[in-house]
Amino acid sequence: MIEENIAAVRKNINDSMAKRPDSLKDHVLLVGVTKNHDIYAMREAIDTGITHVGENRVQEAKEKHETLDRDVVWHLIGHLQTNKAKQAVKLFDMIHSIDSIHLAEAVNSAAAGIDKVQDVLVQVNLAREESKTGVDIDELDELLYRVDELDNLRLRGLMLIAPNYEDVEDCRPLFRKMREIFEKVKEMPLKTANIEYLSMGMTHDYKIAIEEGANIVRVGTAIFGQRQY
Ligand SMILES: *Cc1c(COP(=O)(O)O)cnc(C)c1O
Repeated sequence: MIEENIAAVRKNINDSMAKRPDSLKDHVLLVGVTKNHDIYAMREAIDTGITHVGENRVQEAKEKHETLDRDVVWHLIGHLQTNKAKQAVKLFDMIHSIDSIHLAEAVNSAAAGIDKVQDVLVQVNLAREESKTGVDIDELDELLYRVDELDNLRLRGLMLIAPNYEDVEDCRPLFRKMREIFEKVKEMPLKTANIEYLSMGMTHDYKIAIEEGANIVRVGTAIFGQRQY
């Protein structure tokens, strides 16, 4: 089932890429979101072509890391608490959820402690949802400049979690706005950043996100089925 699901998602990704303007026809990276799915499901996905996995909790990722016995690129997509930064830099190739200077500094010093330069994305709370993490758009530039200054962080782009609107088309303006912000960030006079990734889109909205310019999508349910809590 997982194999067929991955094939279906990849087909949708290609169809959505075909719908976007020529200037956006670059690669789209599929991150398989494995949170709350066991390592058997993970192995099956990896053995049928998933090369990047996303987890939202440090502890769960750590346990899986120890037992998975597969090579894969690990993404932290959930909120990170500063007291977990040390573990996070050991486990994750990319951290999508930097949303404050305080957290950026904690991750930077944790990375410095293991001589690592940690790839990070800055998460933006574009819809200004109370319940959501992510930096407010008014504070984005300041945070980006600060992340850029930190020696053990390498800024790679931006991340968005769109609100769970009943009509998924309502996400489109947000994705479009995010793409505009992304293009502006690419023009900022940053020193060490290598801005390449725009991470947006999950099972219910990844097709629209890609049409609007996402180049990382984080897809769980469409690959692995419903999560059991
Ligand atoms: C869980 C999660 C996803 C995947 O959600 P699905 O709806 O299962 O595709 C993507 N991004 C983040 C940040 C998540 O927490």
